Amino acid sequence: MQQIKVIYPLLKEPRKIVITTHQKPDGDAMGSSLGLFHFLKQFGHHVIVISPTNWADFLDWMPGTKEVLDYERSTAEANAAIDAADWIFCLDFNTLSRTKRMEERLVNASGQRILIDHHQEPQVDKFTYGISNTAKSSTCEMVYDLVINSGNDDKINESVAACLYAGVMTDTGSFRFPITSAAVHRMVAHLKDKGLEHSHIHEALFDNFLENRFRFIGHVLQNRLEIFYEYNTALIAVPQQDLVKYNVITGDTEGLVNYPLSIKGIKLAAIIIDRGEERKCSFRSKGGFDVNTFARRYFNGGGHFNAAGGQSKEPLEEVMKKFIKAMEENKDQLSNYQF
Ligand code: 5GP
Ligand code: MN
Repeated sequence: MQQIKVIYPLLKEPRKIVITTHQKPDGDAMGSSLGLFHFLKQFGHHVIVISPTNWADFLDWMPGTKEVLDYERSTAEANAAIDAADWIFCLDFNTLSRTKRMEERLVNASGQRILIDHHQEPQVDKFTYGISNTAKSSTCEMVYDLVINSGNDDKINESVAACLYAGVMTDTGSFRFPITSAAVHRMVAHLKDKGLEHSHIHEALFDNFLENRFRFIGHVLQNRLEIFYEYNTALIAVPQQDLVKYNVITGDTEGLVNYPLSIKGIKLAAIIIDRGEERKCSFRSKGGFDVNTFARRYFNGGGHFNAAGGQSKEPLEEVMKKFIKAMEENKDQLSNYQF
């Protein structure tokens, strides 16, 4: 993988470009994809954003979402765009398997793949150009760096600013996680200078849910949360029947794993959701417990040091048992927690 800066001088020549990201894109995935989209369009490139799957309704306010292709719904159109692309930007994922059913098409594409990502252990051999930096708060911060380092500060318009802000804000937990550097705050100050209306974005993202999501969260916290105080650990396990009963839709479970981390002493929080076709796991930690390694070792997943995910094909009860066993195996680290 050659350094991303090799493409800077090439940005001026119009190309056919596809931008893609991980399945069920979150604020950073969608924000970085659309931020880059609005940036690249200004050079006269033909740019198409493809999401491997659908996304949460609370991302629909982002400028450009109406033009994003959902690979599962527009497969033929998306395949044609992938096949025709000179460049394929792959944002906010470390392994092509995170694009689910798109993976094969991406692997066989004749265009050059370009990685921009902040997850651990990326498949660098799969990309012609790219940048991987786990010290970065978000892929949106990395797209911002690309814009600045390529000398295109003047191309940060309101759409670019709004999309990039959304991703850096959500991936830093509204600027509270330790990864939030001075550079992140400088970036936000710069975006403000460019016309960013940050409070609209917070409202669009956090004050736009339906009542059923609130009832669902109440139910889950009341009935599906188990705390293991001697391990400083909390587990939420959600059976599929809960998703059906509360009409849970994509995005409704986002952030739920963080709730138990606000309980005094809790340093590891996990959620296992029975999505029918698989059991999806999310892990969050505070401080020195590495959930990336934990997710890789036990749940076929990965991510970041303090935020990772995985999945399993086994029944929910089995995955819960596996989690408890994994927690017990890590007793030394979890019980003797150093702040
Ligand atoms: P979340 O728990 O919000 O789904 O994901 C947390 C972090 O872990 C995200 O950065 C996400 O990209 C990563 N992640 C989630 N699930 C998986 C997975 O199954 N495999 C890998 N490699 N990373 C994951
Ligand atoms: Mn991210």
